[in-house]
Amino acid sequence: MTRERLYLFDTTLRDGAQTNGVDFTLADKLAIAGMLDKLGIDYVEGGYPGANPIDSELFATERKLGTTFTAFGMTRRPGRSASNDPGLVALLDAKADAICFVAKSSAYQVRVALETTPDENIASIRDSVRAARGRGREVLLDCEHFFDGYKADPKFALACAQAAYEEGARWVVLCDTNGGALPHEVEAIVGEVVKVIPGDHVGIHAHNDTEQAVANSLAAVRAGARQIQGTLNGLGERCGNANLCSIIPTLKLKDEFSQRFEIGVTDTNLKTLTHVSRSLDELLNRGSDRHAAYVGESAFVTKAGIHASAIVKDPATYEHVAPEAVGNKRKLLVSDQAGRSNVLAELERVGIRVAKDDRRVVRLLDEVKEREAAGFAYEAADASFELLARRMLGTVPDYFDVETFDVWVEQRFSATGERATVTMAVVKVKIGDEHLISAAEGNGPVNALDVALRKDLGKYQPFIAGLELTDFRVRILNGGSSAVTRVLIESRDEIGERWTTVGVSPNIIEASFQALMDSIVFKLVRSNAPA
Ligand SMILES: [Zn+2]
Repeated sequence: MTRERLYLFDTTLRDGAQTNGVDFTLADKLAIAGMLDKLGIDYVEGGYPGANPIDSELFATERKLGTTFTAFGMTRRPGRSASNDPGLVALLDAKADAICFVAKSSAYQVRVALETTPDENIASIRDSVRAARGRGREVLLDCEHFFDGYKADPKFALACAQAAYEEGARWVVLCDTNGGALPHEVEAIVGEVVKVIPGDHVGIHAHNDTEQAVANSLAAVRAGARQIQGTLNGLGERCGNANLCSIIPTLKLKDEFSQRFEIGVTDTNLKTLTHVSRSLDELLNRGSDRHAAYVGESAFVTKAGIHASAIVKDPATYEHVAPEAVGNKRKLLVSDQAGRSNVLAELERVGIRVAKDDRRVVRLLDEVKEREAAGFAYEAADASFELLARRMLGTVPDYFDVETFDVWVEQRFSATGERATVTMAVVKVKIGDEHLISAAEGNGPVNALDVALRKDLGKYQPFIAGLELTDFRVRILNGGSSAVTRVLIESRDEIGERWTTVGVSPNIIEASFQALMDSIVFKLVRSNAPA
């Protein structure tokens, strides 16, 4: 049986750019467009030429992309002709393969927001689609507020969609602009639309305000729509857009869809999805959502004892798809609930081979339990766990010794009479027979210590040059006067590898020092630095 083609349309660079706190540079936009193209996305909406300098520049330059690069903009303004509307002219002049117009399809919105008549709204759709077709462009029409509009006045909403289709728009996209529609409503309404516009010309653009943008997109496909619009990681205004990082694997890995439909993302490209999702976060300098479906760091993590021992026997016992299919990893948490099988599986994952009945495994397990009771959190700090395991199995070289460190925090008056806090750290390190001293200032004691520690590690310096601390989390455990501090440090290196280390002590500097040391030593182990 031949499978029907489903098209994916990404609007990360346009609707995703509406996200609170997200600002794409031109270079960001080009990098993301390249990533989406490589992934196999059919349409990439680059932005709104004429609306801001970056988008204008983006659409003024030639790009070499396989995807249909799409410009977004409004239909002609009411009361103007298509050739006499500067916004529309800029859109038609943009170097784009396709043009996606947005027009209202709700009678209420036309009256209140646009302050024009239903007839003029439809005439504007017809004129704009015709003008873009006349310039040889593929045309899409985003029917804004379609579902709300349809519920109030189905005839008018349909008339807007039909006008675009009749004028030759390749796609009529039904938008749930306010994001309040529910899956059964979407399925029913799309079912009505495809009676008058063929489904292979109908798209869905869902927002996530009831946490159902993905479900709404799939419901539209079930009802006959053949284009899905969404964003990477569900980026977008308010609660975001439909998340392509969830939609793509569902279409590829769930029989209901994979047997009926084909998409541009190959099985091989699907394996890069986790990387694509995290790369976007990195580019935006945001932490990744650990619990994101398919691509989150916790998506295939198992903790409890019974589940973990079943997963070791057969992963299908507690996994709905194989993590490798989307480029993610299975992980069994090492925690006080863990049994020996858990530890063995985790050791294997990080590449440490030991015999099943090796006594050292029991010792390691006891050690982990003891340390977790003292406040260490190895399930969050996999790098510290790996180091602990490697040390107990005798495979971590003694790279260097920190002989002493000093940290000062001093508050004084500056020359201009303002109060200023100054922090300095001095670290004495022994590497082989060599003694090294480094001093550094920092914006706080941990920062100063970190900078001093990594300033000069002699022959190991090249191995840690790309090391960067990306997150620092502090938690005070069991309160009161006997409180201990747990510090978790997340690090990253030049190739984007990330790891987390942990330190515990009643003293926050000491706890931070432990976590910093683990991070550096872990990097040296990973880089196969010579002892
Ligand atoms: Zn939108």
